[in-house]
Amino acid sequence: NDALNSGRSVELFEAERLAEASWELSLHARIDEGLRNGEIWLAYQSQWDMRRGEPCGAEALIRWNHPTRGPIAPDAFILQAERAGRIDALTYWVVDEAITAALALNAQGRHFQMSINLSAQMVDKPSLVANFAEIVRRRNIDPRLLTVEVTETSSVRNRPAAVQNLSQLRAMGFRLSIDDFGTGEASLAYLADLPSDELKLDRRFVSKLLTHDRERHIIRSTIGLAHALGQTVVAEGIEDEATYRALLDLGCDVGQGYFLGRPQPFAEFCQGLLKMGQRQSGVV
Ligand code: C2E
Ligand code: MG
Ligand code: MG
Ligand code: MG
Repeated sequence: NDALNSGRSVELFEAERLAEASWELSLHARIDEGLRNGEIWLAYQSQWDMRRGEPCGAEALIRWNHPTRGPIAPDAFILQAERAGRIDALTYWVVDEAITAALALNAQGRHFQMSINLSAQMVDKPSLVANFAEIVRRRNIDPRLLTVEVTETSSVRNRPAAVQNLSQLRAMGFRLSIDDFGTGEASLAYLADLPSDELKLDRRFVSKLLTHDRERHIIRSTIGLAHALGQTVVAEGIEDEATYRALLDLGCDVGQGYFLGRPQPFAEFCQGLLKMGQRQSGVV
């Protein structure tokens, strides 16, 4: 009897797993609809100049509030968009939105850097540079406003083409950032092959900084290496003040994480900045 029951529950589990998998696979079919009706939106997370102790930029992070499923994690639907050939549409929508946000922030008189994430499936595409050039023309922006974050990963199909594309974007004026540094399988090769402006220390190192000697050594050395190459160092995943202070001591330039600000809708992000400005000028 027990054996029968457990056999049934295994079957049930399998059925659920399959339903889940096919549901995920069908996500891509709703991307355009999700973009049109506002289910897909961008959250903005602040990036702080650590020495000055004030925000200097933001990273745009994509979100999907599915009407029946609720929030879907970006890793999940970006993978589906890549597989279904919808990643271009999604990415250029992100770039356009992020530019609008960046222009609004900079109109308030601050210099605000805006970061976007570029999928590994896009970095080697022949159309990439022309598409970014078209956006610069259409939006009439200074490309230096935007930082393009790329993750070092083996899933880049044509590495030489990727290096050439990204170098060209950089020559156009876009800032180039290596995201999740240290988690890919060719971190140092990336640094050698790809001239870039910024290096983002992955959260997995940052979160162990206070408790693990090895991670502290890795962070210290990476900051030294990045600075020697003329790069700005951004630490992601700063969740407490002690980690912030330790990173500042190690010479880290920019910080990002829940301690400094959660990813938020643009209106709330702006309200947060406004409140901070009032505090600093003694109004609040
Ligand atoms: P990422 O670019 O490395 O982004 C950082 C992730 O860490 C974000 O997760 C952010 O919400 C989270 N995070 C920030 N601060 C903290 C912290 O203090 N503690 C912890 N535990 N987490 C923190 P999110 O938003 O879920 O995004 C996950 C990944 O999805 C991103 O990693 C990025 O690779 C990808 N992604 C997000 N938006 C886009 C996009 O527009 N296009 C592409 N291609 N990928 C995107
Ligand atoms: Mg990123
Ligand atoms: Mg990252
Ligand atoms: Mg990361």
